Amino acid sequence: MAEEFDICIVGAGIAGASLACYLGKHGKRVAVIEKSMVERDVIIGELLQPGGVDVLQEMGLEECLNGFDAQPVEGYALFMQGEHFTIRYPNHKAGRGFRNGKFLQALRKEMLAQPTVTVIEGTVESLTEIDGIINGVKYKTKTSDSSQTISAKLTVVSDGMFSLFREQLSANEKKVTSYFMGLLLKSCELPYKNYGHVVVAEPSPCLMYPINATETRMLIDFPWSEAPRKSPELIAYLENTIAPQLPSSMLPSFWEAVNEGKFKVMPNHHIPAKPVYKPGAVLLGDSLNMRHPLTGGGMTVALTDAKNLGARLIAIQNFADTKQVGELVKQFYATRHNQTATINILADALYGVMRNEDLKRACYDYLKRGGHYAHEPISILSAVSRDVNLLLSHFFSVAGYGIKNLIRTKSITVGLLRSRAMLRDAVNIVAPLVLNEKPSWKWKYPIKAGQIVFR
Ligand SMILES: Cc1cc2nc3c(=O)[nH]c(=O)nc-3n(C[C@H](O)[C@H](O)[C@H](O)COP(=O)(O)OP(=O)(O)OC[C@H]3O[C@@H](n4cnc5c(N)ncnc54)[C@H](O)[C@@H]3O)c2cc1C
Repeated sequence: MAEEFDICIVGAGIAGASLACYLGKHGKRVAVIEKSMVERDVIIGELLQPGGVDVLQEMGLEECLNGFDAQPVEGYALFMQGEHFTIRYPNHKAGRGFRNGKFLQALRKEMLAQPTVTVIEGTVESLTEIDGIINGVKYKTKTSDSSQTISAKLTVVSDGMFSLFREQLSANEKKVTSYFMGLLLKSCELPYKNYGHVVVAEPSPCLMYPINATETRMLIDFPWSEAPRKSPELIAYLENTIAPQLPSSMLPSFWEAVNEGKFKVMPNHHIPAKPVYKPGAVLLGDSLNMRHPLTGGGMTVALTDAKNLGARLIAIQNFADTKQVGELVKQFYATRHNQTATINILADALYGVMRNEDLKRACYDYLKRGGHYAHEPISILSAVSRDVNLLLSHFFSVAGYGIKNLIRTKSITVGLLRSRAMLRDAVNIVAPLVLNEKPSWKWKYPIKAGQIVFR
């Protein structure tokens, strides 16, 4: 293809398709290469937090939530050992539950409607490079035998969790923290209509939320190093360990789904963003950064990043000015944590808490107190607030509350020993997560010096 584009996007998933729409609406010449434009049937990305809905609105893409029976989600219901309570999202905001494929097709339809966006169904094989500068991609369509190339001044790599190109553009270390097994529950009677449900179960949490008027997604966490497989042992685990902890109203649809046996399993990754700047390219979405999906934050991070990168690219008049393009990419990398750190830290910190007996109990009891003990943490989970200090103050208050309860309810020796262990665990959980997010004080010096060091 002889035409040269301003921007080439690899992958029309949540990040790539939303960015293409946003750039197209502002008249940028964009080529998108997507492996498959067919509607996908997946268990990922089916609850969009209210903060993500807000970002879609800011990008002028809120219409993409209409027309496929997306369900408003107004807050969370938490269940633990026979008790339960609810927390509403702040300011009467609502998230959305939906089939991921339906939402993505709506974004893709909007992308295809942009006159300056060219979409090619094909698989990118490699990034092309001249003199150390990425200048486009080599790809193959399903119908052609030979590879073709596209040139662009900037290549956005948003090829998702199993990214082929992550290693070239980052120093990320990939870790699988657990597996989610997804079931589709039909006509499930959730105790609270239009709420996300979290069962703070043993040994690991389960999530449920409506994804259309008749179907509920259930995700069961498997905290072991092996993915669960269909077997008599798995059925026994679901029967003896999971089912007794679920609200009884949902058991008929749970058993129907288990007996049908159509479950899907996905790995849950922890990939802190460690981009290595390479002229002509930028990483976006799951290829750049992943966190545990317990808090449903991935799409909000992808959309927030697409908006922040997109806003910078829209401002560029001349993409031939590669120096300006490079500076804006570096700025994006250096500042993105201001809006994504809370989502990343909370997701993996909460997963760590859920895997620790005393912290888990402390967290449940803390949120159950209501008032600001519940509403401020949920404002962070919903990505309405992106205030890291607020997140950390509640995280350590949970540990403090747990210590108070342990000392009150146990003997002094047991209480003190368990309190010390709990505080140590809390610090061990959160400290590396905070450091991954490159707090702004760490960035001041390199940015001032005009040099950005990403490792
Ligand atoms: C089990 C699980 C549950 C989750 N639940 C939620 C949730 O409820 N809420 C939430 O917000 N987040 C959730 N997430 C995270 C969320 O799904 C992701 O963060 C989000 O989809 C990232 O978007 P993306 O565009 O980076 O990747 P994707 O949406 O996966 O898009 C990547 C695209 O790139 C294409 N592609 C890949 N390779 C190539 C290639 N070589 N050439 C061309 N195209 C290519 C793919 O076909 C795909 O269309 C969940 C994640 C998991 C694992």
